[in-house]
Amino acid sequence: MAQTFEIAVFQGDGIGPEITGPTVDILRRMSDASSAYDLKFTDAPAGAAHYAKTGESFPAESMKIAKRADAILLSAMGLPDVRYPDGTEISPQIDLRKALTLFAGVRPVTVKAGQRTPLNMPDGKEIDFVLIRESTEGLFYTQGKGEVTPDEARETLLITREISEKLFKFTFELAANRKKAGRGPGKVTCVDKANVFRAFAFFREMFDAEAAKHPDLTSDHAYVDATALWMVQKPWDFDVMVTENMFGDILSDLGAGLMGGLGLAPSADIGLEHAVFQPCHGSAPDIAGQGVANPFAMILSAAMMLDWLGIDHNNPALIADAKRLRESVEDVVAQANVLTRDLGGNAGTIEAANAVLDTLFVA
Ligand code: ATP
Repeated sequence: MAQTFEIAVFQGDGIGPEITGPTVDILRRMSDASSAYDLKFTDAPAGAAHYAKTGESFPAESMKIAKRADAILLSAMGLPDVRYPDGTEISPQIDLRKALTLFAGVRPVTVKAGQRTPLNMPDGKEIDFVLIRESTEGLFYTQGKGEVTPDEARETLLITREISEKLFKFTFELAANRKKAGRGPGKVTCVDKANVFRAFAFFREMFDAEAAKHPDLTSDHAYVDATALWMVQKPWDFDVMVTENMFGDILSDLGAGLMGGLGLAPSADIGLEHAVFQPCHGSAPDIAGQGVANPFAMILSAAMMLDWLGIDHNNPALIADAKRLRESVEDVVAQANVLTRDLGGNAGTIEAANAVLDTLFVA
């Protein structure tokens, strides 16, 4: 009997609807072809364009759809010209992260043979690591509430035991699942600045306590500055990294740079009960409406969603299809025949998504 999963879909702003359509089409095709799972999609309106039209950026009904769903697929939200009266940007994805306590930001970084990267890759080397960014506290804790006087400004970094323990448990489980899938040696690196800040010594202590519970995995520590250097010099040495919110924000863009740009960088924001899957990039208003946006980061995010659902619900067919979908995108990128403009090609969004479909179902 097929397991049924409800997916909430936030089409979002700018290029959002353009990359969501073909991604959901691919998922529907995969679901139709499988007897082990059935995906049902429900649209959840929200975002800047919705705010401009209705005066509401995140309708209560859309939050309800998100909370009820088994997983949430989101493209990108926010438009530079549409803002709240106080001038701040409209970003329901951040409201969602807070409301659903999505503490683990998962950012895979992969560079396969044949993929364009700004690095000089030694022969036979590939990059395949995951950066986990704590996403609810750290230096973002006082976001929008920092104290500023004419003479000084103050923001607070918060590291709590409650969130850190959940974060590290999640991280080691993810490393164990990767190892089981043959994707890494099962090594977790805690990225911090424990030599300077007591808060990071606290962070590290909790990391070590979780590491001690996983004798089948290895662990080490790295300072964030050295990590930035090594991500450029020897990124193939990393497996799973876990870090504080602001450090993770910066390092994940560096990771996207290694992959040849934002158009290939997927992500997930995961909590204990809910998870949102979305590309790292924004709504790209500069290219919206032209049909040229790269759908690959969104499709790779959808593959992460299938994998998460499969692991969480013990559904091997979903895990296998997640791998098939990810590898189809990787194949299209490596063959370099059908690439969008941001990757140096001239294919449109639909053409690029169709190349993935062809690899999935014809090859
Ligand atoms: P945000 O603050 O929401 O992350 P941003 O303006 O900083 O948004 P993006 O919207 O990601 O960043 O756009 C940055 C640049 O990358 C833009 O020039 C945009 O056209 C390009 N870009 C982003 N996503 C894609 C994509 N999927 N395909 C092609 N180009 C993209």
